[in-house]
Amino acid sequence: MLSCRTAALGCHVYACPKCGHCELVPHSCKSRFCPTCGKHATDLWTDQVLNRLWGLIWYAHIGASLLDPRFSVRYIGRYTKRAVLAEYRITFYDGRTVRFAFRDYAAGGRTSFATVSVNAFIGRLVRHIPGKYFPMVRYAGLFCNRWRRRYLAQAQAAMGRKESGGASVPEPVPWAERQEQLTGTNPLLCPCCHVPMVLAVVLFGPWEQIQSQPSTRVLGIPAALRTPG
Ligand SMILES: [Zn+2]
Ligand SMILES: [Zn+2]
Repeated sequence: MLSCRTAALGCHVYACPKCGHCELVPHSCKSRFCPTCGKHATDLWTDQVLNRLWGLIWYAHIGASLLDPRFSVRYIGRYTKRAVLAEYRITFYDGRTVRFAFRDYAAGGRTSFATVSVNAFIGRLVRHIPGKYFPMVRYAGLFCNRWRRRYLAQAQAAMGRKESGGASVPEPVPWAERQEQLTGTNPLLCPCCHVPMVLAVVLFGPWEQIQSQPSTRVLGIPAALRTPG
């Protein structure tokens, strides 16, 4: 996770077909515990579950606020898929101590701050990492793995949903498109010529090994990009 979006995990290299300008897009870590990757995974999971639920009867027996499936699925996604602390809540770090903001329920829900040693901070975080293969969400009835493939599409069709999208998964939005939605800028347009850059090569592995691959030298990656970020 500490290597997320640095060259340590390898990268995609895009090149401009007109001027040869190169951009490195470092790979992400895909860890659920990573604030950035965790958010993307949560959004995907929420879309998948809502897609399966759509058109079926929603039944919740835990209070009025859960009557809206979108609210409930997003709420569950936030608590089961996301990192325990968003990056923006960390307000100070000097290598030895960490200061972070949290909602203080003992003080009526207002924002409070705590300063702890780095080791204590890591200790508090890792307590929230579930064991390997531990299912954070259990599915029941039509949605459990055993029945979903066989009966969910039939159930949705019986309830008037035209396409049998029971097991369908929404297409994930490509990285460049998500970046454009977030920032308003397409990161894969050449900054000089404003034409789409093309994927030149995908590099895997730690940075030291990437440097030794011949394809890297052939591409002539700019010197500014030759050191890990
Ligand atoms: Zn160009
Ligand atoms: Zn990550």
